[in-house]
Amino acid sequence: MRRPILAANWKMNKSAGEAQAFAEKLLPAIADASSLDVVIAPPFTALDRLGRALGGSAVELAAQNVNAEPAGAHTGEISVSMLLEFGCRYGIVGHSERRAIYGETNGQVAAKAKALQAAGIRPIVCVGETLEERDGAETLSVVGRQLDESLVGVAGKELVIAYEPVWAIGTGRVATPDIAQQVHAFVRERLGTLYGEVADSIRIQYGGSVKPDNAAELMAQSDIDGALVGGASLESDSFAQLVSIVARAVQA
Ligand code: PEP
Repeated sequence: MRRPILAANWKMNKSAGEAQAFAEKLLPAIADASSLDVVIAPPFTALDRLGRALGGSAVELAAQNVNAEPAGAHTGEISVSMLLEFGCRYGIVGHSERRAIYGETNGQVAAKAKALQAAGIRPIVCVGETLEERDGAETLSVVGRQLDESLVGVAGKELVIAYEPVWAIGTGRVATPDIAQQVHAFVRERLGTLYGEVADSIRIQYGGSVKPDNAAELMAQSDIDGALVGGASLESDSFAQLVSIVARAVQA
């Protein structure tokens, strides 16, 4: 059985002080969350303070991005060893905002995921189609290509995939559970081609306008192993609700 994983992607939101205050409210509210992995990806500038505030709890830190090079002339970038200093256990790579706004390619995503794995940090590799691609019936070919090219040289062990239809991110438009399950099943099949039996243990998160009122139905799908959450992860109350919804889905 795959252990569910709920991850918060705060994007470019929250100061270090706000991150600390969030942790202080969240931790007492999720004291019974032992049946899933809970992860928070704050901005780099809040990693230190959030890590201290979470210290001793089971909630783990993630990076929202990383540079694949170990060090050197890369102004404005952060390396894997810098993330390790803050105790990051996960790293999001290939988020659609990085692909669309910063031109991140599948090849770069693969290089970042490999660099993370070499340091023992688990990559969360994001894939997903745009609305235009969905309307053009290209979802599976786009997602398939993203997987094939973003996972070159990436090990299946400890890998996490996030399927995030771009049209559902931050829009309030969530994929129906059936649509999400169809794509997740396809992703697992493709992972089977790439990794064989290991594919059964790879966790696939759904992302795109996940909220407390739609999470239970999504989590009930057989190939959905958790969620990557933007907007609803910014308030500790709604994130704590999501933690208990995912925990209940596991027990069901
Ligand atoms: C995301 O940024 O990965 C995301 C899924 O955002 P939201 O939950 O706000 O759609």
